Amino acid sequence: MAKQEDDFKKVISHAKEYGYVFQSSEIYDGLSAVYDYAQNGVELKKNIREYWWTAMVQLNDNIVGLDAAIFMHPTTWKASGHVDAFSDPLIDNKDSKKRYRADVLVEDHIAKIEAKIEKEVTKAAKRFGEAFDKEQFLATNRRVVDYQEKAANISKRLGKSLGNEDLADVKKLIEELEISCPMSGSKNWTDVKQFNLMFGTKLGASAETAMDLYLRPETAQGIFVNFLNVQKSSRMKIPFGIAQTGKAFRNEIVARQFIFRMREFEQMEMQFFIKPGTQKEWYEHWKEHRLKWHLSLGLGEENYRFHDHEKLAHYADAAADIEFRFPFGFKELEGIHSRTDFDLSKHQEYSGKKLQYFDTEENKNYVPYVVETSIGLDRMFLAIFSNSLKEEELENGSTRTVLKIPAVLAPTKAAVFPLVKKDGLPELAKEIVDDLKWDFNVIYDQKDAVGRRYRRQDANGTPFCITVDHQSLEDQTVTIRHRDTMEQQRVAISDVKDIIHQEVDMKSWLKKML
Ligand code: ATP
Repeated sequence: MAKQEDDFKKVISHAKEYGYVFQSSEIYDGLSAVYDYAQNGVELKKNIREYWWTAMVQLNDNIVGLDAAIFMHPTTWKASGHVDAFSDPLIDNKDSKKRYRADVLVEDHIAKIEAKIEKEVTKAAKRFGEAFDKEQFLATNRRVVDYQEKAANISKRLGKSLGNEDLADVKKLIEELEISCPMSGSKNWTDVKQFNLMFGTKLGASAETAMDLYLRPETAQGIFVNFLNVQKSSRMKIPFGIAQTGKAFRNEIVARQFIFRMREFEQMEMQFFIKPGTQKEWYEHWKEHRLKWHLSLGLGEENYRFHDHEKLAHYADAAADIEFRFPFGFKELEGIHSRTDFDLSKHQEYSGKKLQYFDTEENKNYVPYVVETSIGLDRMFLAIFSNSLKEEELENGSTRTVLKIPAVLAPTKAAVFPLVKKDGLPELAKEIVDDLKWDFNVIYDQKDAVGRRYRRQDANGTPFCITVDHQSLEDQTVTIRHRDTMEQQRVAISDVKDIIHQEVDMKSWLKKML
């Protein structure tokens, strides 16, 4: 646990030091769970968004984009169920006065049991060496089987009591498991209560006529209310999808995990409209497809897993999370939900407008079913950033800090250095920058010794460093150094652009999904 916390602290401080993420309004001591993206962060975020958008909209001829407003008519949120049901179960510790999500306390307890299982597996793998069969060990080792059963039973009970709105049983479960306040160790808990997560605001000039509004807690509803407009104007035939990226707001009860859980965040969602009865196959399709998108970035297959929901949201008939191994353990990165016709039917009911599709093959009207994929852009940012940050021991015994962000997403693709600040080298280096900047984000750096400049760019996540030296003036060649391997090559200046292109080209990364 201590190592995990330490690693996570390093991620947060690196993000600040290298201009990725700052606490919002820091000079006023910050605003809890609200963050700003700095010069490098904004580029990484933009590149992740583009990687998603290209895979979703550009590469699928049956998916189109949308950019709906954050403000929506307040009835939207009555229809969607958010006014009545978009809440989290909260619990307070009477001694420490700290507030928690009751379900998260129980989930963290389950995670501790899972960590014990992993520890047993690691120990056994060491003991049995080559002969170790993990599957068999998990199925037969008495202690591990007990742990698994225990975790599954707790998860089932939590799912059941949340599903039945039985908050008294959630409290009972916390007491039975002897869960204590992580801050104070106290087990003196209040009852569990529901807390609505939507932020309210007002639209209008005078207090009497102002209309109560909500800041949207998800982008999805902007898509649902536009379903027919988009379908008609694009002449899309079912199955088809609408994709959108944009801000969402939630008054989260506990938000102590940096950009993992924010009160203002960005989502990338796609709602796929289908014929009723085909939801199972599309749900499986999108689960598989989305996992492939993640794997294309090469962050390691072992860092992802699916988690099927026990407790289904009010709108879903099936739901799974793609979980990622964050510095604090496996947690939800993306949700895939089979939402049935819940949303469109509700909007139809509340608006009195038909939200149906005429299926020419079936020769009838119906309210389409929806399978959605929903990922937090900030969580994806954290997944990439935390996974990329490495401390490496070098052959000469020194260490380097390197941010191995997939080259396609790196904020700056190359840094160009003159070896020395004279003899015409800066001029040639700047010429190279002027040429490359039409294709990539590149920077010029002439400060300090070249070794230090390499280290700076490693920590910044820049995949290439290009050094101009005296030989460059004679034969128009430079050295190009690769961030991950630290390998250096002498290449013609005229080839530099192609070399960078080969590694950062989105097409070749996305083709890994096929
Ligand atoms: P959690 O269980 O972690 O609260 P959720 O199940 O409420 O998440 P969804 O409503 O399914 O999340 O939202 C879809 C995605 O939006 C999530 O998978 C996550 O990546 C992102 N997301 C949700 N809430 C936040 C938040 N407060 N901060 C950052 N990202 C978020």
